[in-house]
Amino acid sequence: MDDHQQLRAAVRALCQRFDGAYWRAQDEARAYPEAFVQALTEAGWLSALIPEAYGGAGLGVTEASVILEEVNRSGGNSGACHAQMYVMGTLLRHGSEDQKRRYLPEVAAGRLRLQSFAVTEPTTGSDTTRLRTTAVRQGERYVVNGQKVWTSRVQHSDLMLLLARTTPLEQVKRRSEGLSVFLVDLRHSLGRGMSVRPIRNMPNHETNEVFFDNLEVPAENLIGEEGQGFRYILDGMNAERILIAAECVGDGHWFVERATRYASERVVFDRPIGQNQGVQFPIARAWVNVQAADLMRFKAAALFDAGQPCGAEANMAKLLAADASWEAANACLQTHGGFGFAAEYDVERKFRETRLYQVAPVSTNLILAYIGQHVLGMPRSY
Ligand SMILES: Cc1cc2nc3c(=O)[nH]c(=O)nc-3n(C[C@H](O)[C@H](O)[C@H](O)COP(=O)(O)OP(=O)(O)OC[C@H]3O[C@@H](n4cnc5c(N)ncnc54)[C@H](O)[C@@H]3O)c2cc1C
Repeated sequence: MDDHQQLRAAVRALCQRFDGAYWRAQDEARAYPEAFVQALTEAGWLSALIPEAYGGAGLGVTEASVILEEVNRSGGNSGACHAQMYVMGTLLRHGSEDQKRRYLPEVAAGRLRLQSFAVTEPTTGSDTTRLRTTAVRQGERYVVNGQKVWTSRVQHSDLMLLLARTTPLEQVKRRSEGLSVFLVDLRHSLGRGMSVRPIRNMPNHETNEVFFDNLEVPAENLIGEEGQGFRYILDGMNAERILIAAECVGDGHWFVERATRYASERVVFDRPIGQNQGVQFPIARAWVNVQAADLMRFKAAALFDAGQPCGAEANMAKLLAADASWEAANACLQTHGGFGFAAEYDVERKFRETRLYQVAPVSTNLILAYIGQHVLGMPRSY
């Protein structure tokens, strides 16, 4: 039972100030939706997961997911800022008390943005434990060299989480060991050992190639124990998967609503096109699949909030919701005929935006590989 009506209404009211014309203009200009992100920050929604002791709202992943769902359901795109919610989880769970006190209240107050994480690399891709960026300790600092790709929002963030290898692969027993997580203060790093090259991409997503050339990171910015970073990053992935599943559910609802409305209004051959089963059934089927994915999303979120293992459910929610939103996107575009391709209907923009979630933050194949191995007990396939 979804009993978040007040929360939904409040987020929806904020989103109404940023209508289709707003998002279209950002898309056309390839601009970052700064005014929207600022408004969401000021209203406190992006600090939903920060505990009250550090100035946040102290809500659960369930509520956080409702917030992002509403953004996407209203026609917006949470991808501009969703990482602010889940990136700080690594700091919260594994950071020192001093790190948490220094950064989390600032993030909660909207004075600092922590919404960038640099994990993916161009040569190793999904095979994360083989990443090549190194961080070598020299006295009271680490010196970082290497390259990342698809590092999103880095130009609109003050802080960034970085996963780098601190012990060479040949010297660890397991590939997942010897990786460490650092909190990089972008304000002191850009132009001083770190440079950024934007990647123009299909949706209007602020994402970049990042190059490290002897970047110095103070040793005090290491999060948790050296060598345990991969585990910390994995820990945060369940929250990320659940939140993105909710965004896809939001997208799915948006597509179904738009398709339903258009199918009921558009008259061709003297009848509304939605009277034809060939038009009506794909929309109905898409809605059914969005509903089913939503159940898995709430199940995963409830387990997460209860502190229970939820790896399988979080992955299933992400896969089902990404599939459902993509199916709904196709049905919506097809229903609109030629007008689906016209920017002013927003369908082609949302179509591009939701397509991303078949690939990022984890591709559908890698989720199936996880289920095959960890849930069904089949041999590891990758
Ligand atoms: C817009 C955008 C924003 C992003 N933002 C971030 C970010 O902020 N931070 C970050 O660290 N990363 C980010 N990413 C990276 C994203 O997480 C990766 O693109 C994704 O994990 C896939 O990795 P890859 O692109 O290297 O694909 P690859 O690993 O090269 O895979 C390519 C294809 O092969 C398939 N494949 C690979 N190996 C196997 C296998 N063993 N079995 C079956 N299929 C396989 C994959 O499923 C995929 O379809 C972003 C990506 C995009 C496009």
